[in-house]
Amino acid sequence: MQAPPFLLTTPVALILLDVSRQRAARRQTAKALVQPAQLVASAAFCADVVAAALVQADYHGSGLCFWPKPAPQKSLGCSKRTKFATQLSLDCISGLRCNRAMPPVNRNEPKRAPSSESEMSLVEFMREFPDDATCLKWLWRNRYSKDGEHAHCPKCKETTAFTRYETTQQRQSWTCNACGHHMHPTAGTIFHKSSTSLHLWFYAMYLMTSTRCGISAKQIERELGVTYKTAWRMAHLIRHKLMMQDSGPFNGRTPVEIDETYVGGARRNTRRGRPGIASPHKTAVFGMVQRQGRVVAVTVPNVQRATVMPHIIERVLPKSTIYTDEFSVYAPLNKLGYRHHRVNHAEKVYVSGDVHTNSMEGFWSLVKRGIGGVYHSVSTKHLQGYLNEYAWRYNLRDDPKAKFQTLLLRALA
Ligand SMILES: [Zn+2]
Repeated sequence: MQAPPFLLTTPVALILLDVSRQRAARRQTAKALVQPAQLVASAAFCADVVAAALVQADYHGSGLCFWPKPAPQKSLGCSKRTKFATQLSLDCISGLRCNRAMPPVNRNEPKRAPSSESEMSLVEFMREFPDDATCLKWLWRNRYSKDGEHAHCPKCKETTAFTRYETTQQRQSWTCNACGHHMHPTAGTIFHKSSTSLHLWFYAMYLMTSTRCGISAKQIERELGVTYKTAWRMAHLIRHKLMMQDSGPFNGRTPVEIDETYVGGARRNTRRGRPGIASPHKTAVFGMVQRQGRVVAVTVPNVQRATVMPHIIERVLPKSTIYTDEFSVYAPLNKLGYRHHRVNHAEKVYVSGDVHTNSMEGFWSLVKRGIGGVYHSVSTKHLQGYLNEYAWRYNLRDDPKAKFQTLLLRALA
């Protein structure tokens, strides 16, 4: 049916043409859905499109419009731009090769993810500590001499100039210019009298602080190119001397979760993790963690009241809130002046409002997954060192400073 020509006044015709083009573009077809000729041809369709155009023009945003708003045009920075962002064709992707699409990047300064825990990558470590001499100088400057030249001489009892001499014995020392007294930056540290280079020591510390679940002595041996004995001794000293758990109580601001677990040994004839008749070689571990705070984990000969209560009294301030499971050992905590709440794990209740021990369970999980996956087996004698290592990393999880740098500074103390 032919549309009466008098209906198509100039403005209406323009609207119709514009709407037709928009629809064509939205359908991503080269051919317009409604050609101008068809508009002229069909009066009914004209009315429909006019109504749609009016709705689009007048009622957009009012909620009455049934047409979606056209997607905002995004600049692709490419010479082959498309009208709509959804029309990103292969042609355009290949066009991204032109440099206008991406700003130039510095390949030597890669972008660090905000979720990155460490502020020191391996490249940065190697840049800061390229060799043994740099590590020794770092110790000298951080222990004795801020400017690298002057230090307090214990013999002269005043600040004097020091010089480093290349000796045949390759002494790692600086000499007082006034009295000839030698000062050794490694004295009293775990590096003292070690024949392993300081660079390797620093690298071992770097490795141990940058992993999440630990690193075995065999892996350190391969990474450093030293013997297994050396690698094991280094890891042992780092765990036992540098990663010692802080003494002193929790600050009392947030609740403390307390739990115990068993590590090692085969699980036989027992449904729980406790030592069974045929598996007496499990080591009891007692742990306390403050919410949003630090964790303390110690090996204990057993989990009897007389054993664990001194640990609680030492670390948890009176009137603090304590969450535990239903284990009877914790029964007298209320009498001791703590606000004690429990969840009954035996009844399969693990969370009751704020009351749960999931933070502590999370730490146990980290320890057990780490020991099982990395160390495979840990003897009772050395377990405390491994607990120190896991607690160290856990306690510094939110430290903006790299854990490695924190550990280095502890090596000076
Ligand atoms: Zn002197």
